[in-house]
Amino acid sequence: MYKKILSYRPNFRPSLVFLLIPILISFIFIAKSFDQYSERENGESKNQELENNLITVKDFLFGQFNSGSAKFEFNARNGDSIQRILSDQKISQADINNVLNAFRREYNVGPLRKDQKIYLIVKREKNGNLVSRLTVNIDNITSVHVFLNKDNLYEAKRVTKVLTKKNHFVETTIDRGIYRSAKQSGIENSIVAQFARLYGFEVDFQRDLKKNDKIKIFYERYLDDDGISQRTGNIIYSEIINADKNITLYRYEYPNGTMGYFTPEGKSIEKSLMRTPINGAKLTSRYGFRIHPILGFNHLHQGTDFAAPIGTPVMASGSGTVEYAGWKGGYGKFISIRHSSVYQTNYAHLQDYAKGIRRGAKVQQGQIIGYSGNTGSSTGPHLHYEVVVNGKKENSQTLKLPSSAPLEGSNKNLFEIQKRNIDNLILETAKKK
Ligand SMILES: [Zn+2]
Repeated sequence: MYKKILSYRPNFRPSLVFLLIPILISFIFIAKSFDQYSERENGESKNQELENNLITVKDFLFGQFNSGSAKFEFNARNGDSIQRILSDQKISQADINNVLNAFRREYNVGPLRKDQKIYLIVKREKNGNLVSRLTVNIDNITSVHVFLNKDNLYEAKRVTKVLTKKNHFVETTIDRGIYRSAKQSGIENSIVAQFARLYGFEVDFQRDLKKNDKIKIFYERYLDDDGISQRTGNIIYSEIINADKNITLYRYEYPNGTMGYFTPEGKSIEKSLMRTPINGAKLTSRYGFRIHPILGFNHLHQGTDFAAPIGTPVMASGSGTVEYAGWKGGYGKFISIRHSSVYQTNYAHLQDYAKGIRRGAKVQQGQIIGYSGNTGSSTGPHLHYEVVVNGKKENSQTLKLPSSAPLEGSNKNLFEIQKRNIDNLILETAKKK
């Protein structure tokens, strides 16, 4: 529902103005000095945008000191409209049309999303209410402002926060699971997902990462003027340190612009096949003998089960050609991929197939081929995953798999240069802290 922040105050007390003026002046002073500071820090010219923001803030603050004005803040309901919000404030339809026309010249607004923020200053006049300022937050970094210009006409302005790229280094000790520890250290979900993809071939986060193991990640962040991370880029460097292994990865940018991740020796930890072709799922049943939950007798479970909510994306664990995509008895909706004359992988109990996945389709490693489900003889939502080697089903979790090719020749030389640059960047970032 709507939240009324400051209601209309006809008996405006002048004493309040004297109290607020020093606050306002110091606010502008702080904003100005931040302007200079950030200019020095980044060495980039963004004062124009900041200047615009300052004018906006000043206008906004002065606006509310006019007696006969009232300021409101709204959290939109799903499918709400600016029209309805303005009508509720008893703005005339002619005024609403002028505001919306100005708005549309700057941004094509559709129905509002739930919790989208709208700020409104209404001017009370003898013959009705007028919009003095309307601000609609489009997303985290963009807002559209409609205001009366000096000709007394509505004008709209779109303000986008300037984002500055800043590399961020974070080190964290695993306490209770990697996802929780990462979250506590302020690592964004997008970076955790990237990290999981980089190490997914070599490390099983559930089984291999234990309490007190360490992870380090150096990655690109995009900050707004308030220093808040609004977007993330790529991981540049990462490290997993535990009792058994220490795996360090450097990003390598190939001359053609593509990227890869390699150990300090220039080796890849990517494998021809992924051990876990699904993100965020829990391994619930390993390859091996077990009592069948429905049939009751001891049988060989020839695959690995990952419990996952219905609809979780399933990836091709390696590049190859789809050999089968359709219903297959107890397997339910089933996909089989041929990777080479030796390797084949199977995915069972799917809810659905991804677009374009049919017999003969070419797929890339990590491409989404379908969505996990509970079809066929399945006792709960999960993915049943099988690796077939020379026609025989093998344990995907212990199987020795061939690695991707290491860097060689000119790529190896260029990698050495980039590696040193990354080491220097990390040192510089650590010094600034
Ligand atoms: Zn299974």
